[in-house]
Amino acid sequence: MIDLTTYVNRMPVAGETLEAPDFTMGFGGKGANQAIAAARLGSRVGFISMVGQDNFGEQQLANFKANHLDVTGVGVSQKNSGTAPIFVDPSADNRILIIKGANNDLTPAVLDQHVNLIQHTKLIVLQQEIPLATNYHAIDLANKSHVPVLLNPAPANRDLNLTHVSRVDFFAPNETELATLTGMPTGNLTEIKAAARHLIDLGVKNLLVTLGAKGVLWVCANDCQLIDAIKVQAVDTTGAGDAFIGAFAHYFAQGEDVPRALHHANAYAALTVTRRGTQTSYPTAAEVERAEQP
Ligand code: ADP
Repeated sequence: MIDLTTYVNRMPVAGETLEAPDFTMGFGGKGANQAIAAARLGSRVGFISMVGQDNFGEQQLANFKANHLDVTGVGVSQKNSGTAPIFVDPSADNRILIIKGANNDLTPAVLDQHVNLIQHTKLIVLQQEIPLATNYHAIDLANKSHVPVLLNPAPANRDLNLTHVSRVDFFAPNETELATLTGMPTGNLTEIKAAARHLIDLGVKNLLVTLGAKGVLWVCANDCQLIDAIKVQAVDTTGAGDAFIGAFAHYFAQGEDVPRALHHANAYAALTVTRRGTQTSYPTAAEVERAEQP
């Protein structure tokens, strides 16, 4: 996905043409963001996706390569690249459209061409900017090869079949996505825990609910821990969730246990909210090390 952000003085009404003061283009896509966060921390990341046969697609591919992703799993579709026109008003309220384009061509059959990549990895990380059927197929392939899977159900989609969710090792929604999926309120920690328990009862092994400045709640069959966020002065929280997932994947694949990997993912995501932008705010392993020094 390419983010096309227009900063407006006010939103135009139907039929109106307005001049807007500023525009930026940024590399986005939840999967790409997460892959790049993990790669900046030093993981070897194989990225399976589809870009469009257009200028944006070429730029995306160059960006993946510049960030050292293995792009053997990146295909080129006849459709336009996925784009997200975003409108931000002076009070920071935003309106976002998502045109999935090429992402819709990442079909289950495409995954079959990359089974080798799927079988030889320490963790598969899925998001919901591709067809649900493709994610279900990825879960099948992973289960068959005994490779752990993390599903980040973003953007939230009520059509997600929770039977498949019980077959992933980590299910990682934010508070809003948890509410959408369960139809339960998530206004405070007690409600969040109840909604989380509902999914655990359906067979989800580990639930990781990200809670913004409050950190992350880890719930599994026998345990429930709130791992506090690191206190920072936030300037831009865009892409914090993706930074968190990418970092968790990296630390888990390094062999850290779940609470430790979550603590490190909190620290990584906290660093990103102190900087502007999405991928531009994601630090490297060396920058994380420097930030940790007193
Ligand atoms: P999303 O971007 O999906 O809405 P969250 O807002 O839950 O995700 O944030 C993801 C993670 O980023 C949190 O679990 C936390 O680790 C970190 N984070 C987000 N906002 C802050 C903040 N203001 N201060 C410190 N850490 C933050």
